[in-house]
Amino acid sequence: MKRLMVFNLLCPCGHRGCIVESTDESAVPAWHFNFVRRLSHTGDYEGLDPIFADVKPACPDCGTSLGPEHVVARVELPVTGGNMPRATSGVMPPPIGLQNDRERG
Ligand SMILES: [Zn+2]
Repeated sequence: MKRLMVFNLLCPCGHRGCIVESTDESAVPAWHFNFVRRLSHTGDYEGLDPIFADVKPACPDCGTSLGPEHVVARVELPVTGGNMPRATSGVMPPPIGLQNDRERG
């Protein structure tokens, strides 16, 4: 089953970006990769969260290293069709509205 999990991040300076975690546990071997939107990879996160440790997200505007504490919304997106998600503009998930996530508790 393919799965896309989007972590929306809010920098203290007000910049927003997101990490997209893409996994397919039904594939053999299972694959997993992360990519970012509107963030850089210049952060210095060294905590236990494997996604942040992999991506090391940072704000491209002010350079602040971002961690799990900056996640403001986490949204799982359904993946349909046979195409593996790739980091191209055609299959990027759309921006996530925070108001949509509020219903999820
Ligand atoms: Zn910033």
